Order: sequence, then C-alpha cells, then structure tokens
Amino acid sequence: MWPLSNFLKSFRVNDGDPNVCRAQLAAVAGHIPHIYGLITVCTYALAWTFWGHAPLILVLTLPVLMTVLAAIRVSAYFRSPEDQLSDGQVAKWLQTSIWICGGHSLSTTIWALALFPYGDAYARGHVAFFIGVIVTSAVFCLKQLRPAATLWLIGSMVPCAIYFSFAGLPAFNAIAVNLIVVALILYSVTRDFGSDFEYLIRDKTRMEEQQAETQALSDANYKLANLDSLTELPNRRSFFSQLDTRMIGALDGEADPLAVGIIDLDGFKAVNDIYGHAVGDRLLVEVGQRFEKILSDDLFVARLGGDEFGLIVSNTVTDLELGLIGERVRTILDEPFIIDEVTARVGASVGFAVYPTAAYSAKTLFERADYALYHAKTNSPGETVLFSEEHEKQIRDIHGLERHLRDADFEEELSLVFQPIVNTKAGHVRGVEALARWDSPAGGRVPPDKFIAVAEKAGIINQITKVLLAKALRAAMHWPNNVFLSFNLSAHDIGTTQCVDELVEIVRNSGFPTERLCFEITETAVMQDSERATEALLKLHKMGIQIALDDFGTGQSSLSAVRSLPLDRVKIDRSFVVELESDKSARAVMQTVIDLCHNLELQCIVEGVETEAQLEALREMRCYHIQGYLFARPMSAEDMDRFLAADSNLKALSA
Ligand code: C2E
Ligand code: CA
Ligand code: CA
Repeated sequence: MWPLSNFLKSFRVNDGDPNVCRAQLAAVAGHIPHIYGLITVCTYALAWTFWGHAPLILVLTLPVLMTVLAAIRVSAYFRSPEDQLSDGQVAKWLQTSIWICGGHSLSTTIWALALFPYGDAYARGHVAFFIGVIVTSAVFCLKQLRPAATLWLIGSMVPCAIYFSFAGLPAFNAIAVNLIVVALILYSVTRDFGSDFEYLIRDKTRMEEQQAETQALSDANYKLANLDSLTELPNRRSFFSQLDTRMIGALDGEADPLAVGIIDLDGFKAVNDIYGHAVGDRLLVEVGQRFEKILSDDLFVARLGGDEFGLIVSNTVTDLELGLIGERVRTILDEPFIIDEVTARVGASVGFAVYPTAAYSAKTLFERADYALYHAKTNSPGETVLFSEEHEKQIRDIHGLERHLRDADFEEELSLVFQPIVNTKAGHVRGVEALARWDSPAGGRVPPDKFIAVAEKAGIINQITKVLLAKALRAAMHWPNNVFLSFNLSAHDIGTTQCVDELVEIVRNSGFPTERLCFEITETAVMQDSERATEALLKLHKMGIQIALDDFGTGQSSLSAVRSLPLDRVKIDRSFVVELESDKSARAVMQTVIDLCHNLELQCIVEGVETEAQLEALREMRCYHIQGYLFARPMSAEDMDRFLAADSNLKALSA
C-alpha cells in the first residue's frame, strides 16, 4: 500500500510542464459550465423526486446552496480568461480545481445517499442513477486532467459502493458491484487518456519549438541573403530581385511606371582615407538610417555596395518628381555626421532612368541610371541627373566607337603627339608629355578623352597602353639627356601585377633610361584601389621611374590622402589656371598647392597655361614648370625633335 504522501502526490498537478498545464486548463475549463449545468439539473430532478418525503434541508436548502457554489465557480472561470494567467496561476487554478472536484464529488454523493432512506424503490433507483450519470459525465469532461477525474471517481464511487454494499438490499449490492467495476474501467481509461494527452501536448510543443527554430533559422538566412549586414538596408541582390519583380509587372502592363535611381556619395572616400574605415562604416550606417526615413510604398532603398545606394521609385516618375526625390536625398545628407569626435560631411550625386522611356529591361534600366549618375559625378557633382535622349545618343556613339576600337589596328591607327613641359626659370624644355591620338578609318581623329574611357570600359586599354608606350619610348630615344618623357597611365594599367610586369618589360626592352621616364596617373585612378595602386607605383618607382600625380585638384581627395604614394611630381589641373586671372580665391588655392608641393619636395607642374598673364602670375607664385599652348601645342614626333633642337628659342620667351 502507498504511503499517504505518495497517494496525495498523485493528485498534484504537473507544474513542471507549463505547456501541458495550459493545454489541460484549456481542455477542462471549457467543460466546466457543462458539468455544473448537468449537476444542477440532475440535483433538482432528484430533489423533486424526494420532495415531501425528505426534510426540506435536503430537498431545498442544500440544492440551493450547491447551485450558488456552482454559480460562483463558473463565474470565477469567466472572470479570469486563461490567456491572461501566468504559468504559476494556471498551475494553481488546476490544483484548486482538482481539490474542488474531489470535494464536490464527495459532497454531491453524500447528499444523494442522504436522500436514499426517504425514498421508495423508484426514488432509490433514481439515487443510483443520479450518482452513475454524474460520475460518468464528470469523468468524461475531466478526462484531460487525470487527478481531477480520479478524485471525482474516488469521491463518488467509494462512499457509494460502501453504502450500497451495506444497504441490505440485494439489488443495491449488485449495483455496488457494478459501480466498482465501472469505476475501475473508468479509472483505467482516464489514466491512459491522461497520459496520451500529456504526451500529445509535449509532442506538439516540441514540434512548435522545432518549427520556431526552423523559422528563426530561415529568417536569419533571409536576412543574410537579402539584407546588407552593415546598414541593414536591403542589399544589392534584394534590389535586383525587387527590380525584376516590378519590371515583370510593368512589362505585363499591370504595374505602374517606375524609375531606378543610383545614389553615389560624394566625399566618402576622403572620409574613409582621413578618419579610417571604422568611421566610414559608421557613417554608412547613419546614411542608411537617414534613408530609411524617406522610405514609402513608392520608394525602395537598398545599399548596392561601397558608398552606392539604389532606389526604385514607383508611380511618381515625372522629371519634376524625381528631381524632388534627388533634392530630398541631398537634404537628408546635408546635416553633418558626428561620429565620436569626428564631424564629417558627404554629398550625393544621383542618376535616374525611367521605364519605359529609358529602357525596357531591368538590366538596361540600371545601366542607364548608372550612366546618368556618371554624368552627374563628372559634370555636376551633388546634382540629380535624369537619363535623357542626349545620353541615349552618347551611348550609341560610344557603342559605335567601341566596335571600331575593337577592330582597330593599334600599331597603324594609334599615334602620339608630344607637348613640352618647360622650366621657365632655367629657360629650357624639362620634359615632354606624350599624348595619344587615334585616327579611326571610320570616324576620323578621335580625341583621347573619348577613346581612352571607351577602351577602359571595353577592357582593351592595356593593349593600347603597351603599343603607345613602346612608340613613345622609341620617339624619346634620341632626345637630349636632360629631357624626361612623361607618359599617361590609366587605372587599369596598374590594376594587376601582370599589367605592371608587361609595362616594365617594355621599358627594359626599349633601353630607355628609367630615370628619364615619368608615369602620370590621376588621383581618381589611384583612389579606385589605392592599396594596389601604391604597390604597383612603388614597384615602378624602385626601378627609377618617376611618378607624377596628374590632374591634381579635380578629384575628391587631398594631398594628404595620396601621401603614401611614391610621388615625384604633381600636375595642377588646367581648370585652376583658367580661373587664375578672374578669381582671387583660385590664386589662393593655387598658391597653397604650390607651397605644399615645395614643402613635400615635389616638382609642381602647372598645365594649360595659355597667356602671358597666367605665366606671370605663376612666376610670382614661384612656380616655374609650365605646360601649355603658350609654349607649344601638342606636336608630332618629328616636330618635337625640331622643337628640342631649337630649344634656345624658349630662352627668349621665358627670360
Ligand atoms: P592630360 O593628361 O591632362 O593631358 C593634357 C591635356 O591638356 C591634353 O589634351 C593637352 O593637349 C591639353 N592641353 C595642354 N596644354 C593646353 C592648353 O594650354 N590649353 C588647353 N585647352 N589644353 C591644353 P589631350 O591630348 O586631348 O588629352 C586629353 C587627356 O586624355 C589627357 O589629359 C589624358 O588624361 C588622356 N590621355 C592622353 N593620352 C593618353 C595616353 O596615352 N594614355 C592615357 N591613359 N590617357 C591619355
Ligand atoms: Ca597627363
Ligand atoms: Ca593633366
């Protein structure tokens, strides 16, 4: 026999498993009104059977009292909805219910048995029927809460079986046996059902947990695949999948017109170079947060990579509306970025292309927006540019040019002209810059600013550079020893070790003294991949080749940003010279740059000098290395030979 504590323990609710408790509460609580309703009806039916035979306390007072208690219990259930209860409250509710069930079953049975002696055979039969009906219904309703069902069974069956066994009536003795058998069967059924129910709930909980885990994993995967890890904006992949989806709608005629915008931050590279990548990263995060403020159903923003962001604009795609969006982008970036002690500022250039005016496919639409952005960056940084018919024509021209360039015989069609760099103090030619020319059989002479860019995009610039370098070295072979050859390189020429090695090979094979060779590279080219550029330039510099920073002042960065480069010369862009006469601040900037070059012991060459006045102004600023139409326009190799021979002519000009 079990000790009492163990026996009582079997009626305790399993509060270690809150999920099972909640499920039990949900299952049992729903039946509470049914049980009490049934008991109340049956009670009054039984009381009515004994009305006039049994004392009033049994047929009226107690039934009314039982009804009041039942009403309190039911209303208590309705007052505390189960989803508002804590785990502890649920367990407490269940435990209370178990004990109440025991008490209720016992009291109802005792009340019914108390009536037994007052009735005739029918009325007594009703008592047995009453107890049987109540116990089976209650056990059935409580089957998910095994301790409550068991306690109800015990509270009802034990007194009843004992009473009927000793009632001295054979029929009721038999009923007692019946009841015991039914009780045992009911007990076994509720026990199995209760365990199955608990098992089922645990299984269900486990499955839900697994499902939640899978969902969390798939959410994380989705984030990884579609969100930019730094800014948490949608990433490039997500941008293109959005664009594809919207374009499919647009092509089917179901979607509204749309526009693609590309935003490129102006001045971000300088922030990265000056303050470091950590500050750059935090600036990008804040840019992302600011962009989130302009998001709407009609405006999708993504980070495409680096400092480039993409926009997909639906519905509002007129020139005016896109201009306003560009304006908003600029306004939100206008506020300075305060990161730790650093205050940084960036601007933004934006390029837009509209479907269907600019393109019919997502890929082309994006390319056209990129083209518009490129225009904004080169011609009007900080502005918004919309892809136009004019751009369309330019693209067609570029494509035509690219076709011709691919078919060109470089040796035959490419040539060089040469322009002297004069030392105005010493009064002689200090160096000569080689400038490329392409005489296309189809399109005549194409200026280098046009075809070099096309060759870079088409990936054939290296072949062109190799041909031109060999030609330039050949032409410079018999120049006087004090004249250096300056040759322009593009970013792609120093982009890989293989390219650099090929250039080195050409220089070595030519036999031209390396210390008289100077490679010109623009700061924008260097900035594209400054680490790789530095490495390549260091290699060339070690061979004795000099390095000049070309077009200085047109890019975004400062001299400090390029200080790691092995520079010998800086070439100040023509745009500064143009403004020299008219603009006082241009003079101040020029003077600062010249002084800086002197301090850093770099030779400073000013390009594009066309007038005596400009020359005089530069002389006053102690700048003596000049290149420009004032001395000579670019000329053929033969003319350059003659020019150098007559170098003494210069002395008269520069004296
Ligand atoms: P750059 O390297 O800045 O070359 C100077 C440009 O300014 C040349 O134009 C030259 O003719 C022009 N120039 C010189 N003095 C004056 C002046 O007093 N007034 C005016 N208005 N212009 C002057 P060009 O020959 O048309 O070359 C344009 C650009 O094409 C070059 O600018 C350079 O960036 C590029 N380029 C030329 N040849 C090559 C080359 O062999 N390889 C590479 N990668 N780029 C080249
Ligand atoms: Ca140059
Ligand atoms: Ca230049």
